[in-house]
Order: sequence, then C-alpha cells, then structure tokens
Amino acid sequence: MSRLAHVKNTLTAFLIGTLSAIPACHRDSADRPAMADEFDRARSRLLEELRAEGIRDERVLHALEAVPRQEFVLPEYRSRAYVNNALPIAQGQTISQPLVVAMMTELLDLKGTERVLEIGTGSGYQAAVLAGLAREVYSIEIDAHLAAESAQRLQRLGYANVHVKAGDGFFGWEEAGPFDAVIITAVAPRIPERLMSQLKEGGPLVMPLEEGFSEVLVRARKVAGQVKIERFGEVAFVPMRGAIRTPTGQGH
Ligand code: SAH
Repeated sequence: MSRLAHVKNTLTAFLIGTLSAIPACHRDSADRPAMADEFDRARSRLLEELRAEGIRDERVLHALEAVPRQEFVLPEYRSRAYVNNALPIAQGQTISQPLVVAMMTELLDLKGTERVLEIGTGSGYQAAVLAGLAREVYSIEIDAHLAAESAQRLQRLGYANVHVKAGDGFFGWEEAGPFDAVIITAVAPRIPERLMSQLKEGGPLVMPLEEGFSEVLVRARKVAGQVKIERFGEVAFVPMRGAIRTPTGQGH
C-alpha cells in the first residue's frame, strides 16, 4: 500500500471512530432526521408540561407546537430549546419561558382575524406563536441588531404575516393600527398610554407591570373610556427601556 493510501485509510478509520463517538444529533446531514425526532419528542414533552401547568386552550398549545423554538435560541442552547425555561439570546436579552408565552397568548384570546401589536420582538419566538393565531402581527424591537436578526429569521422560517421594525415600542405603530390586541414582553412601570390609544375599544393589552418590588402579569381593556385591569400572578421579565423610563415618559 502506498504511504498516501495508508494515511487515507488511517484517517478514514479515525473519522469513523470519531463519528460514532458523537451523539447522533450532533452529526451532519444524514443524521438530521434523528435530530428532528429528538426535537419532536422534547416538544411533545413540553406540551404535556404546559397542559399540566394549566394551559387549556388547544389552539394556543397547537400554535406552540408548530413553532421550532430551537431556531430562536442561541446555537449553544439548542439542546435546551424545549426545557420550560427562559434562555439568554443576543444583546443580553432573553427568550421568554414557554409557559409564560402560552399564558400571555391565552390571555389575548385570539380568534384568527386580529391585527396584533407586540412590543419586544427579542428572538421573534412570541411573534411566531402569534403568527399562527392572528391575521397580522406587528412587532417592535428597540435593539436594532435584534430587530434585524429576528426579521431575517422570521422571513427565513416563512412567517410572512409578521412585520418587524426597530424602534421604541412606547410610541406604538400608529400607521399599522388600530390593533385588536397588544402584548408587551418587557416589564414596565405603567401601561404605555399610546399603546392603549392604538388599541380598539374592548381589546386586551397583556403585559408584565412593575408593582413595588414585584412584577405582575396584567390584562388591561379599555371599556367606555375606562381602563379595566385584571391580574394574573407574578412573573419575571427584562425591563422595557426607552421613553417609558424618562421623567416625562415622552422621550426627548
Ligand atoms: N418576545 C421575545 C422576548 C422578549 S425579551 C421573544 O419571544 O423572544 C424583551 C425584549 O424587549 C428585548 O429584546 C428588549 O430589547 C425589548 N425591549 C425593551 N424595551 C423596549 C422598547 N421600549 N421597545 C421595544 N422593545 C423593547
């Protein structure tokens, strides 16, 4: 055997040895189905967990089931994409816990015909879940890098009814409104007035609200000129930034 052939054979033997030592889901192309199966199983387990935690709306569960969360997390967290936890994403932000995404989505009570406004696109995961339950989703992200990355991700994954823009969600998206429902996925000291005014009469606005040292999930509705608020327990979110934090709350 020539020296080159020997080196090639040794290399092949080494590669075969190495490949079999790597778990199936880390191998390339030929093993993609194994990896997809693994994600499918983990997703089914997560759905059972959400049911056990009290999520009853089958449409919401179905919408979560349809979104590949592994595509929305950082590569190093892909194997934990279906653990019921919040995870870090780029720019020091987080993708919300699936249970909280499910709870907030359930509170919006969508029928499929709505135009929804989301503040805090983050990874785009919540927007993708909403995309399966509403007609159009408008999502605003204050971090320009995250906005661009998530807009591209959502487009790549085929979510044609999600529209992302970079900006301060405090000001809403006047041209696209009025909205049937609003969701804010960052915690704020009060309900941003402009978002309430871009919401149709009676429509829900779901958000985490700072109350003393805690954060409470609330649903607000504007009924006959009055804002009615319902509370749904404690949550933990990253803060809403921008104009809502300035003394006048109006920006500069
Ligand atoms: N919904 C996201 C998680 C959101 S984390 C997901 O599914 O992944 C909260 C996001 O709100 C962060 O990305 C943060 O940058 C953004 N944010 C904070 N303040 C904001 C503001 N004033 N306007 C728009 N986005 C804001």
